[in-house]
Amino acid sequence: MSVTGVCQVCETREAEYVCHRCGAAVCSVHFDQDEGLCVHCADPDGNSDVFAEGDDVPEFR
Ligand SMILES: [Zn+2]
Ligand SMILES: [Zn+2]
Repeated sequence: MSVTGVCQVCETREAEYVCHRCGAAVCSVHFDQDEGLCVHCADPDGNSDVFAEGDDVPEFR
């Protein structure tokens, strides 16, 4: 089985995994390999910025 298309989270990177819960095709950045879930399912509260690919923390003034 192969995943084609782009990540449904960032729509930028090539999708490499499929979420076991919602079936979304996501890239390695937006897939929790421990849980087998996309970031939306692994983190339903959305506490983390799914679009953050680094550890850059915005500075609040
Ligand atoms: Zn992504
Ligand atoms: Zn999901």
